[in-house]
Amino acid sequence: MNLKCIKCGKEDAVSMGLCSDCLNQVLMLKVQPMQITQCRKCGGVMIGKHWIYNFSPKDAESLARKSVSINGSKFTLDSVSIADLSLGKETAKGLVSYSGNDGVHGEQLVDIPVILGSISCPRCNKISGSSYEAIVQIRPVSGKMSRIFGEALAKTIEFASKSENSKSNRYIMKQQNVQGGYDLYLGSKSFAESIVNRMNSGFFCEVTKTKKMFGREGGYDTYRYTYLVKVVDFDRGNVIYMNDHEYIVSSISQSAIKLISVESGMHLQVTRSEFIHSRIRLSEMKAEISDYMVISANEKEAMLMDPAGKQITMQISAAGMESVNLLKYKEKYYYTE
Ligand SMILES: [Zn+2]
Ligand SMILES: [Zn+2]
Repeated sequence: MNLKCIKCGKEDAVSMGLCSDCLNQVLMLKVQPMQITQCRKCGGVMIGKHWIYNFSPKDAESLARKSVSINGSKFTLDSVSIADLSLGKETAKGLVSYSGNDGVHGEQLVDIPVILGSISCPRCNKISGSSYEAIVQIRPVSGKMSRIFGEALAKTIEFASKSENSKSNRYIMKQQNVQGGYDLYLGSKSFAESIVNRMNSGFFCEVTKTKKMFGREGGYDTYRYTYLVKVVDFDRGNVIYMNDHEYIVSSISQSAIKLISVESGMHLQVTRSEFIHSRIRLSEMKAEISDYMVISANEKEAMLMDPAGKQITMQISAAGMESVNLLKYKEKYYYTE
């Protein structure tokens, strides 16, 4: 005669003095949804960060194993087998096998919710050569293939090719010279963003992001993103109009441009946001940039000689210096430290 369950007193005890029904209650099974991402083109399945192209019952079980846990301290989870994983269904039946501390094994059937995502896998994207999620359009503000723009472009293309990753959507689908600049067609928005961030950290850029609905597939809206990156490629000596006032560019970094007002001679620094909110136009004019030899100097005044041998006097502190670099524009000289 078997012992009766110590909890309900009705059924025969199988383990820990409990019948199988009461045992299941103390198991405290925790079931979380299985998140499955499937390629809508080839049926490949993404598990973790990897794509699996011959999804087997074993893969299904290892996925299910991550969705089920036992909270009861007297039990351990042995395996979860999936009876009917057809990816279209909202739930999958999982058979949970467990062992008690006393060595007795048990089984319980659970419903595991399935959250199915649908995307296009990197392999299909690469094969079709037609799928891209983002375009980075690189353009010079000057409208010309300037030195700074050329440098920004070369560094960006180098970074993009080095950051390609065949196991993900970080790939360049197409890259080409276009009228007025260069376009990169990319497999993912996040890849585009890392390229844009890289550009922003090295150069003074103005970025405009737009998104367009591209379609609806597998229950999801799909978008294409365009990042218009204008590289502010003004160089020392360029003359620009900002809000209709004339300035000489004295230097440019990734975060600010230093300018000299032609009207007042005042020096000022313009940040990215100030720049974006101003009306900017590049003039055809340029300031001459030359090194001037210091003939004599004190803290207030310096006598200088230009490369042609002409002497000038400036109210600058150049004591102890052999030469200074000056900008000359409209017969006036400008010194920047
Ligand atoms: Zn019982
Ligand atoms: Zn695929």
